[in-house]
Amino acid sequence: MPPRGTIVEAKEFANVHGGWIAARLGRLPKAAPFQPGTVVPLRGVPHRLVHRSGERGTVWTETRDSGEKILCVAGGVEHMDRRVHDFLKREARKDLQKAATLHAAELGVRVRRISIRDQSSRWGSCTSAGSLSFSWRLILAPSYVLDYLAAHEVAHLVEMNHSARFWRVVDKVCASVTRAKNWLDTHGNDLHRYGIQE
Ligand SMILES: [Zn+2]
Repeated sequence: MPPRGTIVEAKEFANVHGGWIAARLGRLPKAAPFQPGTVVPLRGVPHRLVHRSGERGTVWTETRDSGEKILCVAGGVEHMDRRVHDFLKREARKDLQKAATLHAAELGVRVRRISIRDQSSRWGSCTSAGSLSFSWRLILAPSYVLDYLAAHEVAHLVEMNHSARFWRVVDKVCASVTRAKNWLDTHGNDLHRYGIQE
């Protein structure tokens, strides 16, 4: 309800726009904690979390005979959340480091530092000193989305703005700019529900 609205107006709005409200509520992302059974996308591919207590404290992927992809987590189940977080951050760093290094070489600029964070407000950022930051959640998105974000932040080392010139630089090193931006508009918000406790 808007601050100056009345109950009567709110009821009227709800009567007229009930379908819209229901659709919005249905779209609110549900928490997907890192616990056994949760399906987590890794590079855009759904992986079911499976606890394997018997093996040493690592995380690895397997494909079941059924074709289902699983993310196996060893050690105590109480450490599963932290282990999956650590694994995804490590994988995100690996992919982003690789993509940023490649695009920096293509553009003739130098990346000084890459940090992987859990920033909810943006997917990446860049300082003029050459430090790039990214959200680890990009590892959940299809690889072309992560690649676009790497290209975007590296391109800021050439153009520290969002001018037409900046976008030409991004286009030079990334072929899937529009596709990646569309994906983020549609699915980006959904990535925030993973690893959040209910
Ligand atoms: Zn930017």
